[in-house]
Amino acid sequence: MAEIKRLSESRDLTRIERIGAHSHIRGIGLDSSMEARDVSEGMVGQQPARKAAGLILKLIRDGKIAGRAILIAGQPGTGKTAIAMALAKSLGQETPFASMSASELFSLELSKTEALAQAFRRAIGVRIKEEAEIIEGEMIEALNKEKVQSGDVVALDKASGKVTKLGRSIGRSRDYDAVGPHTKFVRCPDGELQKRKEVVHCVTLHEIDVINSRTQGFLALFTGDTGEIRAEVREQIDTKVGEWREEGKAEIIPGVLFIDEVHMLDIECFSFLNRALENEMAPILVIATNRGITNIRGTNYKSPHGIPPDFLDRLLIITTQPYSEEEIRKILDIRCDEEEVEMSNDAKVLLTKIGVETSLRYAIHLITAAALACQKRKGKIVEIDDISRVYGLFLDVKRSTQYLMEYQSQYMF
Ligand code: ATP
Repeated sequence: MAEIKRLSESRDLTRIERIGAHSHIRGIGLDSSMEARDVSEGMVGQQPARKAAGLILKLIRDGKIAGRAILIAGQPGTGKTAIAMALAKSLGQETPFASMSASELFSLELSKTEALAQAFRRAIGVRIKEEAEIIEGEMIEALNKEKVQSGDVVALDKASGKVTKLGRSIGRSRDYDAVGPHTKFVRCPDGELQKRKEVVHCVTLHEIDVINSRTQGFLALFTGDTGEIRAEVREQIDTKVGEWREEGKAEIIPGVLFIDEVHMLDIECFSFLNRALENEMAPILVIATNRGITNIRGTNYKSPHGIPPDFLDRLLIITTQPYSEEEIRKILDIRCDEEEVEMSNDAKVLLTKIGVETSLRYAIHLITAAALACQKRKGKIVEIDDISRVYGLFLDVKRSTQYLMEYQSQYMF
């Protein structure tokens, strides 16, 4: 590989997100004494788990998390993914968050360990400082007046337009640091003066892997069909990123990797995770499950959460609890705001009841569907009837199972 590509376009295109299920979450929502506020940064309730997440945040910031992982145990829909994402958001807006279900590993065309390696690298950010050219009319005039030549190092005072010559560059970005935080140097291609300024891109190691993988290339970022990435490609990239770090051109931002349904991982995957956690660039690993004592996949042994004892030993364990009616109402309120759906109080009361009877996630899904029903009748505010209509159209799990039980004689012979 002659030159490691670090296309900034890749970042802009792959970070486009629709309003996702967790887009309302902006952080853990703690106060200054690390207590979880009732409702804050999009998070509602679940105080003990959020407080524990706050302590983990402190461990991460103090650099004391190495070699450990976090397990969130709790029933479906109790906010396990939400808390993992909140942790990433609280670490910083640039912190990558990668989420996957352990069962995906067994349905991909990749080997399990390759898929895990890709997931790990999706959760490691690289903040790259680059110099980009910008041309500004007034500045060019000022530079011309001072007869600045290609390779001259200058200080530009934007406010006064004053140009001061500092010397000549010897061609390495480190030498320009004295110039100022933004203005780096001036060069003169084809007799035209240009100013260069520092820009920062954030990409993940996985994105760098993919755009440098000769067999797949840049387009694989859109199809998701990345295929196996050769070990040499990763090694070369790690070496290059190491060089950029030494030169002060790049910084590693460990993100959060969330693996749901972790009881689906087998013993081979756990030994991969054990090794991966020892890597100095490892992201924060958050795993989740709703299983108690169960078989460790690929063995005849039972253990808590289906996790082998040596891996259990690394874990900080948090639990999540089912939501009260009031908490469900608050989460639904936040989701209505996030999706910009106006809903009458009566409709919200009904939707909350549905959330209690079925599941929080089902009730959240109905918001979008009810808003469409409302739009169709040219209404502006979602009313009870809209909720009832979509409740009739889309079955929740309980009704769907009941329906199949009632009619199974017509399906199966
Ligand atoms: P599963 O085990 O089925 O994967 P989960 O425990 O990961 O479920 P989530 O996906 O986090 O549950 O929660 C379901 C939905 O409710 C998501 O849209 C999530 O953002 C939202 N949610 C859950 N808990 C909270 C909370 N405490 N505050 C705000 N939103 C929440």
